[in-house]
Amino acid sequence: AHLDRIAEVEPDVHAFLHVAGEAALTRAAEIDRLRAAGEAPSPLAGVPVAIKDVLCTSDMPSTAASRILEGWIPPYDATPVARLRAAGLVPLGKTNMDEFAMGSSTEYSAYGPTHNPWDLSRIPGGSGGGSAAAVSAFEAPVALGSDTGGSIRQPAAVTGSVGVKPTYGGVSRYGAIALASSLDQVGPVSRTVLDAGLIHDVIGGYDPNDATSLQQAWPSMAEAARRGAAEGSLAGVRVGVVKELNGDGFQEGVRSRFAESLERMAAAGAEIVEVAAPHFEYAISAYYLILPAEASSNLAKYDAVRFGLRVDPGRSTTEQVMALSRERGFGPEVKRRVILGTYALSAGYYDAYYGSAQQVRTLVQRDFAAAFEQADVLVSPSTPTTAFRFGEKVDDPLAMYLNDVTTIPANLAGVPGMSLPIGLAPEDGLPVGLQIMAPVREDARLYRVGATLE
Ligand code: GLN
Repeated sequence: AHLDRIAEVEPDVHAFLHVAGEAALTRAAEIDRLRAAGEAPSPLAGVPVAIKDVLCTSDMPSTAASRILEGWIPPYDATPVARLRAAGLVPLGKTNMDEFAMGSSTEYSAYGPTHNPWDLSRIPGGSGGGSAAAVSAFEAPVALGSDTGGSIRQPAAVTGSVGVKPTYGGVSRYGAIALASSLDQVGPVSRTVLDAGLIHDVIGGYDPNDATSLQQAWPSMAEAARRGAAEGSLAGVRVGVVKELNGDGFQEGVRSRFAESLERMAAAGAEIVEVAAPHFEYAISAYYLILPAEASSNLAKYDAVRFGLRVDPGRSTTEQVMALSRERGFGPEVKRRVILGTYALSAGYYDAYYGSAQQVRTLVQRDFAAAFEQADVLVSPSTPTTAFRFGEKVDDPLAMYLNDVTTIPANLAGVPGMSLPIGLAPEDGLPVGLQIMAPVREDARLYRVGATLE
């Protein structure tokens, strides 16, 4: 049924870069046989799942939507993918994204943009626009994304989906093509909080292949969601409204829906408090030094020798082949960030740029620590506006970057964040998202609180 739906809507939506087709049907039939024999690997066996193309898959191309990896099929599965397969979920294909997860609209994909199923003239968010659009267009019930500065939460918000960025280290990054390793996290996109929790439980937990993977037992996120939905109460929960992540520059309908969701939380018994996070206003500036610095280092391996595209006109030196291949293989946004990052890391500038950005990162972490003394969870609109139109920001990198003002602080601090739909903006009829953030390792709180709001 999902493959039929994909065939029907893909010409308009373009959420997928690769559809598994036969392989998915074969695996689904195998799961049916196992279930009939009473040997289904898990209760989720047979559930189809879409996978962001940033995750390595041993049986499908993994390009991160870049020409430089065109056609590359990795020799192994990323851990989150391997865990989904082991639980019997069936990968439907690989979803579109901004090249190397740099962007907020999927307009920087080398293979053409994804369209927002709510309004095809608008962007589905980014970088994980394909995963969110696939879920929102009923091409897949659940999907995987990656979130370095908002790439799960922002696309979820503008497509009316649920998206979760787990605590840094909560889900393995093994086999996730790296953008900025100190910020990247893999997480679920879904239509309900419970569905996200079910996927989170499968993909999460310690992995010796990821040096930053947290060694601890995690409570069940699905259980937390079920409990939240069953109790429907927020009595005793202190909800902190982050002053800096609302107000000027936020669309009217986003603000009114957000205000309404605060009223609903108060009616459910929550205590609403205002918290200040004075350094959040510097978060974007710090992020756009830390991210390019790490990305320029991570992307140095695409040298035309080890992976993917190799442009060699003959009689060229190694340096010329590398330069030509990177020139041809990378898009403009990737080049912009590699140049920025290389500059920020260069001798003489390192302390002024990268060093200061790391200090700001510490201040953002302290803001979170102080805010979480006053509140159990923090909330804000997930994005300043609803889905914008194609072309609106693509030629203005700064405008594109500012769109992430709400989501970036969580990545800088490693705290978990969820976006869930809270209705449509009256002025344009497009989905609005509520962001909930919790302290590090307290991901279950997101699910408990989120489920009471559905
Ligand atoms: N939009 C942000 C960026 O361009 C976030 C990207 C991400 O989370 N992968 O960096």
